[in-house]
Amino acid sequence: MSKKYVVGIDLGGTNARAAAVDRDLHIAARNRCSTPAADGFAAVMRSLAQLTDELLRDAKIDKSEVGGLCIACPGPLDGDQGIVIHAPNLQWFDVPVVKTLGDLTGLKTILENDANAAGYGEFIAGAGKGAQTMIMMTLGTGVGGAVVIDGQLRRGPSWTGGELGHTVILDGGRQCACGQRGCLEAYASATSTVGRFVEARQAGRPSSLTAAAVSCREIFTAAKEGDELAKEIVAGTAHYIAVAASNLANLLNPDRLVISGGPIQAGDFLFDQIRAAYVNRPFARPVQHMQILSATLGEDAGVVGAAGCALRLLA
Ligand SMILES: [Zn+2]
Repeated sequence: MSKKYVVGIDLGGTNARAAAVDRDLHIAARNRCSTPAADGFAAVMRSLAQLTDELLRDAKIDKSEVGGLCIACPGPLDGDQGIVIHAPNLQWFDVPVVKTLGDLTGLKTILENDANAAGYGEFIAGAGKGAQTMIMMTLGTGVGGAVVIDGQLRRGPSWTGGELGHTVILDGGRQCACGQRGCLEAYASATSTVGRFVEARQAGRPSSLTAAAVSCREIFTAAKEGDELAKEIVAGTAHYIAVAASNLANLLNPDRLVISGGPIQAGDFLFDQIRAAYVNRPFARPVQHMQILSATLGEDAGVVGAAGCALRLLA
């Protein structure tokens, strides 16, 4: 008989979140803990096992009712082997996540990339619900991505599918942390939006924002309030996202591009600019078909997506 619940865990460098999710994708219970990253891999695994036990105990769910657990981790990783190859924030190299957490919890366990899990969460329960093909773009320190084609996450044989942050939108352009120049991440991430703003100011452009340290949110606020430099920088961010969106529309003819991350709090102020830059892209048929939407699940996207992977593969 199939089990009633699965567990999704979303592991970040600072916090870990867990949720028990039923077969209809309703969250029956959720909790979180800080990630003891400095204490090493074994300590993190023990804390996640404890988090899972507490989650199920508080929700009065017996482990016999749980079909399995999926943990979403930063990568690169190899889900087939169940290992995280390298997670800089956690100081992990080649760690056996699936075996260790499976042994500690006694639950069937699988591993998923964190950006993929968040994208899959939006696909099954958020802004992508009802679409066939959806792309997620996450704007943060970097630019993450996930690609769902005909209902299936596109992981790829190297588990690196969906890395749209490192598609090049301006050959020879700004340096990216990955080693290339001109990546989407080097233009559209929250970090690079701040970087472009600070560089322009250092080059002598005036702005109402004069503090040495500026956040992406402050730049968006200043742009809304009419600061010319901030407006120009935000328009640039929207333009680069639109270029990438047009490439994705042409490549995959998706139904939806869902954008998540801190900058989406700017709401229509950002999305109107992205859509205005996007609709002017040539090759109209795929461009007109693809909707550009804001993610709706917030912090739940990762645990819901992980649970969705567990439901699909384990329960
Ligand atoms: Zn890159």
